Amino acid sequence: MDLLSTLFSLEEELSKVIGSYVQAFFICPRQVWLMSRQVCPDEDNIFLQIGRLIQKQAYSRERKEVHIEHLALDMIKRGEKTLVIAEVKKTSKAIEAARMQLAFYLYELKNMGIEAEGELLFPEERKKEILILTPEWEGKVEKVKQEILELINQPLPPSPHRGRYCSKCAYAEFCWA
Ligand code: SF4
Repeated sequence: MDLLSTLFSLEEELSKVIGSYVQAFFICPRQVWLMSRQVCPDEDNIFLQIGRLIQKQAYSRERKEVHIEHLALDMIKRGEKTLVIAEVKKTSKAIEAARMQLAFYLYELKNMGIEAEGELLFPEERKKEILILTPEWEGKVEKVKQEILELINQPLPPSPHRGRYCSKCAYAEFCWA
């Protein structure tokens, strides 16, 4: 890719919020900034690999990952009244972040004219949670989108802060090496 294309691609990246930013924002804003600059995480990180494996194997028969514009949806199913968007997670430890990511998908789909309900799935814990996009969720999504846009448009990343996610984070070498 030449320099001009790289700059255009970066500009495009900094003008939109994607689901993985929303989830990461609740875990560590620095991660979001690094992702927005397409900094590659450590691919050998065992927690990253386990997460990908669970996402790949869980519900493999019914699973159909779908990309709609800037959204990468784990699974779409036909519900009784609407479509159901399902998001598969390794663990429910960061459940607030997972809920917000799913609410973000429902919000973005609604803006495209697609009504859907959400399901959070934790296959290892055999847990499922339903999420309906209420006006309260919509307000939360609008606020978080604005905060993320402000964050990723900062010229420098936020400083690293040691937290409970650092020991498993695939970006650790960018913070503590
Ligand atoms: S190592 Fe910690 S501070 Fe650095 S990106 Fe990961 S979670 Fe954030």
